[in-house]
Amino acid sequence: MTQLFTKTLKQAPAGEVARNAQLLIRAGYVHKTMAGVYSFLPLGLRVLENIKQIVREEMDKVNSQELVMSTLQRKELWQETGRWSDELVDVWFKSKLQDGTDIGFGWTHEEPIVDLLRNYLKSYKDLPISVYQFQNKLRNELRAKSGIMRGREFMMKDMYSIHDSKESLDSYYNSVIEAYKRCYGRFGIGDETYVTFASGGAFTKFSHEFQTICDAGEDYIYLHRGKNIAVNEEVLDEAIEELGVDRSELEKVKTAEVGNIFNFGTQKSEEMKLVFTDAEGKEQYAYMGSYGIGITRVMGVIVEKFADDKGLVWPENVAPFKVHIVAIGEKGQELAGKFYDELTNNGVDALLDDRDERPGVKFADAELMGLPWRITIGDRAIDGDGLFELTERATGETRKMDYQQLVDFCLSR
Ligand code: ATP
Ligand code: MG
Repeated sequence: MTQLFTKTLKQAPAGEVARNAQLLIRAGYVHKTMAGVYSFLPLGLRVLENIKQIVREEMDKVNSQELVMSTLQRKELWQETGRWSDELVDVWFKSKLQDGTDIGFGWTHEEPIVDLLRNYLKSYKDLPISVYQFQNKLRNELRAKSGIMRGREFMMKDMYSIHDSKESLDSYYNSVIEAYKRCYGRFGIGDETYVTFASGGAFTKFSHEFQTICDAGEDYIYLHRGKNIAVNEEVLDEAIEELGVDRSELEKVKTAEVGNIFNFGTQKSEEMKLVFTDAEGKEQYAYMGSYGIGITRVMGVIVEKFADDKGLVWPENVAPFKVHIVAIGEKGQELAGKFYDELTNNGVDALLDDRDERPGVKFADAELMGLPWRITIGDRAIDGDGLFELTERATGETRKMDYQQLVDFCLSR
């Protein structure tokens, strides 16, 4: 921590109203540039990268391939679908090149991906294709009061798949639902994340959102926990009819939309002429799906759901470091340094509080920063029974272990 560039702050900036941002700023994870715009500092970046890595592994499992598309986009592509219009899309950031040419900043990449794919797609033998990226999207959001849960610049994972038939798209779409469930499970919010009927299906009646129960969210869904049915209030009436459930059976809960997937059928490829030749040599429109996860929003939701009055609480899979080592006293510093080396040499991410600070300050900062396990290595234990405290951040429970037991415990995490 003497070398960590950020320091904890006593207070979040005035005017920051979102709890997730307040805590992340105070704990040194993010910096606020302006409303809805945040920089991710070394600690925050580690969390983001952990979330991305989980998503990357799951998208790779459904045979998708990672790429990165450009942020600057051509107006002409968006005119093909009518979505250059500011009336239709109310979040555009636009600018002009020096010669006056209009350009847009990517708020999604559906049109650009179709354009890219039509350069490569020839035959049914090329299909299916699935590609994804992690990218900062830019959206001129009207209100940005939810901290990193609603950014004007935010990280999204967006994936696009194209297929030669409805059956192929449908079955891929279902495999993505399963992959998404694994992602949210690994983030630690799976139990409270629901596949939700939502609006926005152009080809199908509904799209599917992934909605996590969260007081800081901006959506409401209607939930049947027993039947595992969830419906966004936007489409309540249509969905109730379709699903044959009674409104009185459903519970209204506040949620945050952490993902959204769409089955476009052939709508987009008809608009933009994305075609391939089938086995008979006939030209066909490709079937397309689009699949988003709000990476930075997920991070905000995790903060909101797990933080307590002392600070952040990270689930182990996304924590920036697994172990927070608090060194106290002269012998404590030395042994804690040795312990830190032993962990890091064996691939366990650890943070060592080697600052010349009072124990109370170190403990308060450890609680604010929220790493899953705190280990206190101090003179008192060294001179006494040789047993050190291991405290779980989420529960506050403390156990005592000798040096070797601590090493074994950490290496097994
Ligand atoms: P919302 O209804 O919350 O504005 P959206 O439906 O417009 O979101 P999508 O286009 O479906 O968003 O984007 C895919 C995912 O990206 C969303 O499910 C959400 O998790 C995330 N997301 C969307 N807008 C933002 C934002 N401004 N900040 C952070 N994450 C966002
Ligand atoms: Mg959405």
